Amino acid sequence: MKKRFLRNFTFSVNRPGGGGMTLLLLLVVLVPSVCLLWFMNRAVQNERLAVQQKLLDLYQGQLTQMTELLKRTWPYKVDWIDEQCVQPGPPRVFSDYAGVVADSFICFDSTGRILYPSPAVAPSAESVEPAWAEAQRLEPSDPVAAAAAFGHLCETTTNETLAARAYQAQARCLLQARQTNAALDILTHPLAQQKYQRVSDPQGTLIAPNAELMAIELMLPSNPAQAAILFNRLQSQLNDYRNDGMPSAQRRFLMRRLEQLFPSAAKFPRLEAEDLAAQYLESNPAFPPQPGCRPTTLPDIWQLPSPRGHVLLLYHTKSLCAETIALLGNLPPEINGTVLAPGEAAEAFFSTPISPLLPDWKVAFSWKDKRHMDLAADARIASLLWTGALAVAGIIALGLLAAGLLRRQMAVAQLKNDLVANVTHELKTPLSSMRLLVDTLLNAPSLEEKTAREYLQLIARENLRLSHLIDNFLAFSRIERDKYAFDFHPVPAREIVDSAAAAVRERFHSPGCRFTVAAPADLPPVLADAGALVTALLNLLDNAWKYSGDEKQIVLTAEARHGGVAFAVQDNGIGLPPRETGRIFKRFYQVDPHLSRTGSGCGLGLSIVQFIVAAHQGSVKVESRPGAGSTFTITLPVANRAP
Ligand code: ADP
Repeated sequence: MKKRFLRNFTFSVNRPGGGGMTLLLLLVVLVPSVCLLWFMNRAVQNERLAVQQKLLDLYQGQLTQMTELLKRTWPYKVDWIDEQCVQPGPPRVFSDYAGVVADSFICFDSTGRILYPSPAVAPSAESVEPAWAEAQRLEPSDPVAAAAAFGHLCETTTNETLAARAYQAQARCLLQARQTNAALDILTHPLAQQKYQRVSDPQGTLIAPNAELMAIELMLPSNPAQAAILFNRLQSQLNDYRNDGMPSAQRRFLMRRLEQLFPSAAKFPRLEAEDLAAQYLESNPAFPPQPGCRPTTLPDIWQLPSPRGHVLLLYHTKSLCAETIALLGNLPPEINGTVLAPGEAAEAFFSTPISPLLPDWKVAFSWKDKRHMDLAADARIASLLWTGALAVAGIIALGLLAAGLLRRQMAVAQLKNDLVANVTHELKTPLSSMRLLVDTLLNAPSLEEKTAREYLQLIARENLRLSHLIDNFLAFSRIERDKYAFDFHPVPAREIVDSAAAAVRERFHSPGCRFTVAAPADLPPVLADAGALVTALLNLLDNAWKYSGDEKQIVLTAEARHGGVAFAVQDNGIGLPPRETGRIFKRFYQVDPHLSRTGSGCGLGLSIVQFIVAAHQGSVKVESRPGAGSTFTITLPVANRAP
């Protein structure tokens, strides 16, 4: 088997142009494909870079526009707050915008004096009234008498400031004397009058709000509902910054105390801003501050003075960043904007200074998904790849087509060569035999009749063989040129068997051959070209004769089988190995060319049989075993089922 494979392989490679052609075709397909793929690879790389650069330019353009706007927005915003400080008045501005536009701020007048949050007031002198001094003297030792003295002063004086301070002192003395209700009465009635609302004590603290806090503290254990009413009133007053003249330190103190007393109800949205401003002022800053956004001595707090000097904005780093991002506007969804404080760094594809107002502050832009550029490029490159793949597929398809055509051409050329070689050889053999026999007859001095007859019979046999060969060559030639024309008619199967048997009877009825024919008379008709079908059977019978030994037993049968008619030619000849049963139907195929030469043939008979049977919509198969003979069976459909 291995030997045969090697033989076949060597044959196919050594065929004229066979291996070279295959190599050439491979090169024709491979070289352009490889070149194309190389170019595609370079093109894809370049396209990727180009797409990425283009996208980068696009985004940078858009972001530059946004940051240019940001550069103008920051000064505009600071100017606007500055203007507000001049117009409605600092406490009001603080109330409306502290904690909103900045974490806190300090308002100044045009001379640079702080307007809000108001700095601590220097203590003023106590009252110099003799009655006040007398009551004060009594207070440590006799609070009841002191309370009465202060009460008397309240009723007699026409000075509202003195009256308010005296009420405050009277309440304090009554508390010392444990007369809580009387003290409460003072705090909630006379001292709560409108006319005392703006009166301050010597430390600049408003008396009325403190009195109110004291009343709340006293009332809370016994009368929480009433305390809550007072709390609400005081809370509103603390959250209302309009013209109340309350020092910010007092406001913060009251807010914080109320938060302690009413943890869930107390709401002071400006308390944090107040605290931050107070902390800033306590940290002894230098005024006027340097222009531009600078760090303060407080950790994480930045100061940003307005160029016109009416406001100093205070920011936590986080708030300043958030405010910048808010001013920047809507970024493209795939981009992250990060604000970088001076000295900070971040990975970014584009960064730019925020504004001259914020020196050394930067805004940096990065991709939310780092693969964004690659993904965007991939989408563009996909079309390029598709084009390349189609081109390669096209080249391969064209290559295959060319290979098919070439193979067909080569097969035709090979066929012609085989045919010429075989025809010449096969025709030469019977012709040589005949010439030899005729020469012998002619040269014999005298001819016995028996010998002459014997020679003439031999010549007739060679002639028959020659005719048979020529018939097969002609049939093959017609098949190859698509010129084999069939003339189908319903023909009784028995008639075909008889015609084939008659054609070989004379030859087969010789010594050493037993020829049997068995076909029932009532066989159904088949739709056939009778002449072609007889040719097919004759080829099988001829093979049975050729490939059987000296004691030939050849049987020709026909029978109805499975809705068709099966014609079989059986012999007791040399048989076939199983692997050959498929190959013997190929053109010019011979199992053993040497063996065939002696029996005469050129490997065309069975291919003609197969062609004829296929044209009849039938099938041909062989059952055979080496040394045990062969049976070739042609099955055809009966006439009424045929096409
Ligand atoms: P050939 O002219 O060589 O007989 P065929 O196409 O008729 O060509 O047969 C192809 C080959 O099949 C033969 O060369 C032979 O080896 C084998 N073959 C055909 N018929 C028989 C048979 N009845 N017994 C054994 N071998 C056969």
